[in-house]
Amino acid sequence: TLILGLESSCDETAAALVQGDRTILSHRLAGQEAAHRPYGGVVPEIAARAHVEMLMPLVEAALADAGCTLGDVDAVAATAGPGLIGGVMVGLVTGKALALAAGKPLIAVNHLEGHALSPRLSDPDLEFPYLLLLVSGGHCQLLFVEGVDRYRRLATTIDDAAGEAFDKTAKLLGLGFPGGPAVEIAARRGDAGKVPLPRPLLGSPDPHFSFAGLKSAVLRARDAGVHDADDIAASFQQAVVDCLVDRTRRALVHAEGATALVVAGGVAANGAVRGALQAVAAAADLRFVAPPLWLCTDNAAMIGWAGAERFAAGLFDPLDIAARPRWPLDPSAEKARGAGV
Ligand code: ATP
Ligand code: MG
Ligand code: FE
Repeated sequence: TLILGLESSCDETAAALVQGDRTILSHRLAGQEAAHRPYGGVVPEIAARAHVEMLMPLVEAALADAGCTLGDVDAVAATAGPGLIGGVMVGLVTGKALALAAGKPLIAVNHLEGHALSPRLSDPDLEFPYLLLLVSGGHCQLLFVEGVDRYRRLATTIDDAAGEAFDKTAKLLGLGFPGGPAVEIAARRGDAGKVPLPRPLLGSPDPHFSFAGLKSAVLRARDAGVHDADDIAASFQQAVVDCLVDRTRRALVHAEGATALVVAGGVAANGAVRGALQAVAAAADLRFVAPPLWLCTDNAAMIGWAGAERFAAGLFDPLDIAARPRWPLDPSAEKARGAGV
């Protein structure tokens, strides 16, 4: 099977051609950092316009790179949420039009399922079920992944996402945008033992996350005016890592039968995060799986792959399916906790 994947839920426009046997025939990506940098964050309206301009040229380039035509694809997989609604609509409408034109089925992919299944694209040996730490710009969750379309959410953040905390910290420290990679680079120069910062929820019995207090503590440390920005960055990153490690360890008791500990999403590109979770897996006698860095941050290969997994499971969508700004992977957990997270 050959799947055309489209991604446009945030500030990356991307198209990829992925086969059911895990071959990535081509993947094209256009970031929008320069357009958003003056504002210090992603501006939804600017993002949506950029997706309109970039998506079709990227689709054509991806098809050309792969040496195939639209007629060769077996299905079109497009991110249908969650994300910035303008961008999601651009990608989904484009996906619908291409599916209709090709006479092939549409697969509406949950962006989070794209992240969640991405480790199975890079690692053919990764079997269900697995314990997944999904750490991205908008989410921080522990999920028991039982199969395609089968997710049990064990924990989520009660306030900010991990990537959001990295981005806000970068902004507070004047390290620039996008924030995660900037904090990681600064942290390498700094001393993680220099600035005492809190570890919210560390040791609490349920495995939920919280990062808002950590961000406020970074603000206070900065305003104190006595700390080096690199030391604050290093201390912040260590605090995040300590929280992720503690919460993931806590979730392991709810992950009986897991074949591996897996990390995915943009923050999984962070070397300190990967290293610390690898140690958690080793201590628990579990395999550790993390996708290559480029597959952690947003891309269309993971959407094409989620499409391939859904294709194999016979999961297709009608052409009138709506874009969704919010779309939990585990609706029952979402209902139980109420709105917000
Ligand atoms: P979501 O997937 O939740 O909808 P998103 O798509 O915007 O959000 P991703 O592209 O998956 O998020 O990840 C982007 C996030 O990852 C940003 O917050 C970014 O700062 C963070 N990030 C990227 N690289 C690193 C890194 N090396 N260290 C820490 N954080 C990083
Ligand atoms: Mg981005
Ligand atoms: Fe993402």
